[in-house]
Amino acid sequence: MLTVIRSILGGQKLRRPGILVQQHCWYSAPGSASAAAIEADRSIREGPRRDWTRQEINNVYNSPLLDLIFHGAQVHRHAHNFREVQQCTLLSIKTGGCSEDCSYCPQSNRYKTGLKAQKLMAKESVLEAAQKAKEAGSTRFCMGAAWRDTTGRKTNFNQILEYVKEIRDMGMEVCCTLGMLEKQQAVELKKAGLTAYNHNLDTSREHYPNVITTRTYDERLQTLEFVREAGINVCSGGIIGLGEADEDRVGLLHTLATLPSHPESVPINALLAVKGTPLEDQKPVEIWEMIRMIATARIVMPKAMVRLSAGRVRFSMPEQALCFLAGANSIFTGEKLLTTPNNDFDADQLMFKVLGLIPKEPTFPEDEDSLDAEKCDEAVSSSG
Ligand code: SF4
Repeated sequence: MLTVIRSILGGQKLRRPGILVQQHCWYSAPGSASAAAIEADRSIREGPRRDWTRQEINNVYNSPLLDLIFHGAQVHRHAHNFREVQQCTLLSIKTGGCSEDCSYCPQSNRYKTGLKAQKLMAKESVLEAAQKAKEAGSTRFCMGAAWRDTTGRKTNFNQILEYVKEIRDMGMEVCCTLGMLEKQQAVELKKAGLTAYNHNLDTSREHYPNVITTRTYDERLQTLEFVREAGINVCSGGIIGLGEADEDRVGLLHTLATLPSHPESVPINALLAVKGTPLEDQKPVEIWEMIRMIATARIVMPKAMVRLSAGRVRFSMPEQALCFLAGANSIFTGEKLLTTPNNDFDADQLMFKVLGLIPKEPTFPEDEDSLDAEKCDEAVSSSG
């Protein structure tokens, strides 16, 4: 394949790209294969790897954009059905009043965003929303709660376990994002039938303290470890547009791609700046920045579901088409993404039709419903 790539590129006279791309270095001399081409070829031949160096990912990320898209698409087609797009619906089941200081988040109680704190939503309302999402074609239902962690919230946590069981019984994949977890809680969520747990790293380790000071990067990684150990799929990605540099985006992807296992889902969010938050004046992310992140994530974590997440509402159908081409294969559907606006349902339906996309069916690990209780107890007892 590399020979083919070289021969295709070899006959072309490559020109300097436009102003947006000029900020990126070129890791391929005209006529030679780019890092995206080399690593995509390797990924197709050898499968996923976790021994990425930061420099290697940096080189892929900084490949000429059209080449990056092309090779992201190659890897995507090799690892997935390129027409299938997973539709997830995210519901905020406990909104606002969060003690954390994530500087992008309107749900933090430290910022005046006009958002009213609410209690945990009642079961009937949550199940009704899940049913509605299912009828609208969504196969995964995600529940988000604005908490630092679930410690000391036994009643609420038990209620959420009930929600997980009921929604799983509807034949949907279930995901939660409830802040930091303890090991035992991860095991209980698994027992209840949870498919995936979302806990984003947000940005690079270096840029992280500029965004959040109330919990550490290592605490985030610890939650991911508990989730993984409990046998729950890991959903972890980040947000671009937080004032980070390109090397921070590379750093985020490097951390994710070198975890003991790649996350099954990698959401790539573009900041939707909310008035009243410290990041309210951030410049909106360009579509090219999203595409660069998506294609790089696709090449370095070929089997992950790469999710075009927050910020999609700002992108036109042709722009989203480029994201799907580059390797995105999951979106959030529904009126809102926690508290920020999301794409219109009819517009999404039309987009699927125009682009020839098909909804991805839910998948459940064989042992999803039958996690051996003994194994759970073992995991809990070894948590000390
Ligand atoms: S992102 Fe989550 S943890 Fe951070 S302030 Fe918002 S709700 Fe709280």
